[in-house]
Amino acid sequence: MGRTSAFLAVLTIALCGVAQGQTPEGPSYLLTLASLANVHVELDLPSAPGSLYMMTAASGDPQNGFAPFVKNLSLQCGGKAVALNRQGAVWKVEGASAAPCHASYDVDLSFATRHWPPGNEQAAFTDGKGMFAVSKALFLESDLAGERRLQIRMSRDWQLQTPWIADAHGVFHFARDDMLRDMIAFGELTADKSDAGVFRVTLVTFGSLRAQQPEVKAVIDKVAARYNGIFPDTEPASFLVVLIPGSQDDGEAYSHGFASTMRAPLRPDEKIVWANTIAHEMFHHWCGQTIRMDTDLEWFKEGFTEYNANLALVRDGEIGPADFSQKAATMIGQYEYFLASGLFKDVTLLTAGQNKGPDRFGVYAAGWVIAFATDQEIRAANGGRKDLSDLMRLLLDETKTTPLTMPVLMQAVESLAGAPARARIEHAITSRDSLRPENYLEAMGLHIDGQTYQDEFYVHPDPAASREQLALRRQWANF
Ligand SMILES: [Zn+2]
Repeated sequence: MGRTSAFLAVLTIALCGVAQGQTPEGPSYLLTLASLANVHVELDLPSAPGSLYMMTAASGDPQNGFAPFVKNLSLQCGGKAVALNRQGAVWKVEGASAAPCHASYDVDLSFATRHWPPGNEQAAFTDGKGMFAVSKALFLESDLAGERRLQIRMSRDWQLQTPWIADAHGVFHFARDDMLRDMIAFGELTADKSDAGVFRVTLVTFGSLRAQQPEVKAVIDKVAARYNGIFPDTEPASFLVVLIPGSQDDGEAYSHGFASTMRAPLRPDEKIVWANTIAHEMFHHWCGQTIRMDTDLEWFKEGFTEYNANLALVRDGEIGPADFSQKAATMIGQYEYFLASGLFKDVTLLTAGQNKGPDRFGVYAAGWVIAFATDQEIRAANGGRKDLSDLMRLLLDETKTTPLTMPVLMQAVESLAGAPARARIEHAITSRDSLRPENYLEAMGLHIDGQTYQDEFYVHPDPAASREQLALRRQWANF
């Protein structure tokens, strides 16, 4: 009897804790943004960790990551100094049992001022006034359980931009490892927020790109409004876009945003390059982040993302019909080359994602063609009242708790476009037979011709197109 009551009492306390939304207390971080040269971190740990570590993925140094830039690291447990033994990006904690523990360290940010070999968008960049840095370079994680809490301090006249939403006390909350997957920007910043809907984008530009902030912001506003329209049921989310000037265009995606190196100045007639990169990365918030999938659907992730980005830009007039047609010709050319060339023997869309570099045409271009064809099949089956946006919405709804799979995708296509369309699309995905994209273009008064064996195609408006065909094209791409 006594034992049962005691058990119930413990259980009640535990349930109360859960009911009030508390999670077990885990490590607590205080990040001080001391200068553009280094930052300082104080870390409270409720018990002794077995190890401290940094995330090395996509850092350009899979062995050490940013660990060599961590300086003055010390750990105390129960008030006594504890020895740490670093191997790569892991610090083994030697023989600590007392609790609580406290760690402190600095991060030397000198990697922001020099060329980082895989590209500074994967590390950090400073223009002498402000700084952006990946969070995996700032935070040491531990093997302890529980929620992570983070507070950030800095000088009053500085700005801070994160892709995270703080609570009423200015505290950020994370599950283990989640604080390592993003980036932050601080210092004197050129920053703007786009408030087109629940998907809120913050743009931060550096160096010579600061002067072009309004042009970039205008593109982001339009694209965000389009995407919020496709996905009205999106959970509120922050998304951080960081643009740094460099000699070569390159980009890196994070959990809640992306950083991109762009050739400056950005030219208005080259929006198919820079605005398209931005629109592509923004669409990944849904296609890849919210809707998750395995490598067998890599073509869906990249191809549907690129197609939706291209379409958003041409519909808003950000890119013209000529650039859009060149994009279509390039994608179709690479797709036909992928199917015809012996270089890709036995590779299908379902297997191309395992070898994304060499089999790139089977991922990006083939995925684009499937997106385009699926869009047209849905439009044709519904007299233009439904389109690919309905499919994307349906998939978002059906993947709330599970990753997207081929059967779920095919069922969704069938429900919107019918069984024969599903069969055509499914055959193209699982075989090396062409989906004949020229037929879909012809239905909209566009003509494509060229040579498969050298991936060279041209798309032109058909001067003999009927009024009906032109109406379909305008409804689709607004030209
Ligand atoms: Zn992508």
